Amino acid sequence: MSKKFTESQIADMLEKLEAMHPDAVCELNYTTPFELLVAVILSAQCTDRRVNQVTDKLFKIYNTPEQFASLDESELEPLIFSCGFYRNKARNIISASRDICLKYGGQVPSDVKSLMTLAGVGKKTANVVYAVAFGGDAIAVDTHVSRLAQRIGFCDTRDPVKVEEALNKAIPKDKWSHAHHLLIHHGRYTCHSRMPDCGSCTICQYCRYYNQKT
Ligand code: SF4
Repeated sequence: MSKKFTESQIADMLEKLEAMHPDAVCELNYTTPFELLVAVILSAQCTDRRVNQVTDKLFKIYNTPEQFASLDESELEPLIFSCGFYRNKARNIISASRDICLKYGGQVPSDVKSLMTLAGVGKKTANVVYAVAFGGDAIAVDTHVSRLAQRIGFCDTRDPVKVEEALNKAIPKDKWSHAHHLLIHHGRYTCHSRMPDCGSCTICQYCRYYNQKT
């Protein structure tokens, strides 16, 4: 059964995560909402580090929706090959760029619903762009966030829609975006998928997984 946390427990948990991960921000490099959108599409099944290596070169050549919209897939694929799933990603980036030019006047839309009309943009990607590029309140649920949410006890499922609902309910809205980064960093650097480092985790008192194990 999922756990219910009090407001002060949530505040304490976030404070402890903040102390463990003071640099918890988006690790993708970008200078515009459009660059962030491209980077997030490229990051599916790929590390942020690899994406940054690719976009470091890519954005020096192309970095506007107009430029990507005029590309043929065969021109983009070799530039993003090392991110994996490069055919799908190239198709989605070009298609999203054309939509941005045709439907949104060349500007990345700043709300989740419109973002989700773009090719290759699901709820997770839309939430990241909305929160990181536009300062919106949103928790993007990736593999780390869903694993953490289930282990800590916010929910009993890894279904992204339900995980987002459970986290939105438990965490104050103005903390959603930062909580998302804290959970991602905790998942990347402490609460690893195979072997969580519970010995160095400061939120174990709240963690269902830890308390069941011990
Ligand atoms: S106590 Fe262990 S399982 Fe729980 S959040 Fe911390 S690292 Fe993850």
